[in-house]
Amino acid sequence: MNVDVVIVGGGISGLTAAYQLHKKDSSLQIVVLEAKNRVGGRTLTLPLKAADGTDNFDLGGQWVGRCQPHIMALLEELGLTHVQYLEGKKFMQLGSDRISSYSSDIPSLSPLALIDLQKLMFKLEWMRKQVDIRDPYQSPYGAEWDAMTLDTFVNNQLWTKGARDAIETALRGMLGVELSQISVLYFISYMSAAGGLKNLIEATEYTAQEYKIVGGAQQISQKLAASPPSCVQMQQPVSKITQ
Ligand SMILES: Cc1cc2nc3c(=O)[nH]c(=O)nc-3n(C[C@H](O)[C@H](O)[C@H](O)COP(=O)(O)OP(=O)(O)OC[C@H]3O[C@@H](n4cnc5c(N)ncnc54)[C@H](O)[C@@H]3O)c2cc1C
Repeated sequence: MNVDVVIVGGGISGLTAAYQLHKKDSSLQIVVLEAKNRVGGRTLTLPLKAADGTDNFDLGGQWVGRCQPHIMALLEELGLTHVQYLEGKKFMQLGSDRISSYSSDIPSLSPLALIDLQKLMFKLEWMRKQVDIRDPYQSPYGAEWDAMTLDTFVNNQLWTKGARDAIETALRGMLGVELSQISVLYFISYMSAAGGLKNLIEATEYTAQEYKIVGGAQQISQKLAASPPSCVQMQQPVSKITQ
């Protein structure tokens, strides 16, 4: 078989690459080699028990927003719709076992902790403007911020336990690592690429948690895999590339 393009990995990236290449030139022979027996990579949607029977739950990537114009355009092309539920009470568990609830946009923290948190937000916003995301190391504070962990930075900046617990919980969930495992420079660049911390943590208009995909995010890959050029080969782990 004559192959023009071999793509490694049947996640959203690999499958989008195959889909877009085929749209540009339908004569290309394209193959996507996927190691697992399913497409989707870090998106995984499973049917789980729900109040009214079974519903699809996302266990990996799931939120999209208008700050991600490419995936929004792809969803429309694939005929996938989105929703978001924002009404109702919010629950928050920080540090200890204490669970609090609140209805506004402001977390239920003491006034001092809220001021502390706001001060950090201003500082992060200032820092973001100092970093060129195309070349973070060359930024004025590149070397200094690359040598400091996010954990040290947060502890230096915040005075109250409430604010520290809130920010640590939010960042852990967002980054999937402990704050001691990444540098301040990495975090500032990541945050900057998203247009600011608020974009990353909030679930309002134009933020990263603006919408969820009805039926689950894995459908993006499933639909792409079923679209032309329809060329995914499962259980084909690539162990060597020779050009
Ligand atoms: C828990 C979690 C929550 C997330 N939440 C969000 C969110 O809400 N919004 C958002 O935008 N993003 C979110 N993300 C990130 C998002 O899921 C990923 O950025 C995206 O799915 C990555 O797609 P990808 O195709 O680049 O990589 P992957 O999804 O990792 O796909 C790579 C594929 O390549 C295959 N592969 C790897 N090595 C080989 C090999 N040698 N041979 C053959 N195949 C190979 C893998 O099996 C996999 O299928 C989340 C991620 C996680 C884990």
